[in-house]
Amino acid sequence: MANERHPITVAGAGITGLWQALTLARRGHRVRLMEASAAPFAAAASRYAGAMLGPYCETEMYAPVVTELGLQALDLWRAIYPSTVMNGTLVVAPSRDIHEIEHFARLTAGHQRVDSAVIAKLEPDLAGRFSSGLFYRQEGHLEPQPAMQFLLENAREAGVEAAFGIAWLPNQGGRDDGGIVIDCRGLDACAQLPGLRGIRGERIVVRTHEIALSRPVRLLHPRHPLYVVPWSDGRFMIGATVIESDDAGPVTVRSALELLGAAYALHPAFGEAEIIDAGAGVRPAFADHVPRVVVRGRTLHVNGLYRHGFLLAPALAVQVANYLDGTSTDTRVVSDPPGLAP
Ligand SMILES: Cc1cc2nc3c(=O)[nH]c(=O)nc-3n(C[C@H](O)[C@H](O)[C@H](O)COP(=O)(O)OP(=O)(O)OC[C@H]3O[C@@H](n4cnc5c(N)ncnc54)[C@H](O)[C@@H]3O)c2cc1C
Repeated sequence: MANERHPITVAGAGITGLWQALTLARRGHRVRLMEASAAPFAAAASRYAGAMLGPYCETEMYAPVVTELGLQALDLWRAIYPSTVMNGTLVVAPSRDIHEIEHFARLTAGHQRVDSAVIAKLEPDLAGRFSSGLFYRQEGHLEPQPAMQFLLENAREAGVEAAFGIAWLPNQGGRDDGGIVIDCRGLDACAQLPGLRGIRGERIVVRTHEIALSRPVRLLHPRHPLYVVPWSDGRFMIGATVIESDDAGPVTVRSALELLGAAYALHPAFGEAEIIDAGAGVRPAFADHVPRVVVRGRTLHVNGLYRHGFLLAPALAVQVANYLDGTSTDTRVVSDPPGLAP
């Protein structure tokens, strides 16, 4: 495909499709973005994200490629999005679960050990509450909806023609005009991608001005490792459950108890916070929790971003752009056919 310029249809305007559209348009491709929902982001799992950019913390359970692509993606976020917050991540555990800190430290890189004095310096409102923890200096976070709005506006400025309320159909291709399709439909692509499954994630957003945090704080627990992400205006996202299900229905009482209990364990001031939103998104995942770019003829499926949509979408967009431009790609995520079919 090197040096040839075909029109490109990106199907789906979640975080994956937005990064694809923007990156390809900035590389000089003619791009159309088609999203089934009439209101931007209304049907995307992405709207429920934290959205932590944690390439090190996420290696606890996943392959090193997540860390490597995640670090590349962090640079891409910082280069493009001024509201990317780079204050790191703090990991703590209640004193009865302090061994969890050792376990987490062994499974991850990129951290320094911190004692209660350093924790108090990093997060003054947590002073005296935790005796030890881990600090991941090179991690970041952002707020999902403003970030997605920013990407959409920048994609349009780069020439992307964005159409909402129009579903792309798998048999429709983009082939009428000889074009290429980048399928970023998340879980809706499971009929085309065997092995793709849904993993439900519930989260609650609260508001309080009684406590301030500068960075995501992960609270380790043997069964329910949860986190609190500070957003603007006194809002905190408390997340997230990880449940083998493609049910996007309302948050259950059990999950609400776990999520709110974790926030309360982090700081009792959360007991007085207002609950302003609660909801669940379904993360698209493959068995190994590593994303894929699956090339089938003139359609490239970009999917399986699991817990890492915000972390990895920019790097996957570069992989796809490189593939289309005929330059090198990472074969751990991009399937390796001889080239796009004619
Ligand atoms: C509670 C929760 C917390 C999370 N926290 C984080 C986090 O902290 N950091 C992080 O990196 N990730 C996080 N994630 C994961 C992240 O949200 C997902 O990896 C990401 O949403 C996947 O994005 P996507 O664009 O592939 O899919 P989606 O966001 O689901 O987007 C797919 C889009 O395709 C559209 N679509 C479907 N069918 C069609 C069609 N036929 N035609 C056109 N459009 C169509 C849908 O309407 C949708 O808008 C979290 C997820 C959840 C649920």
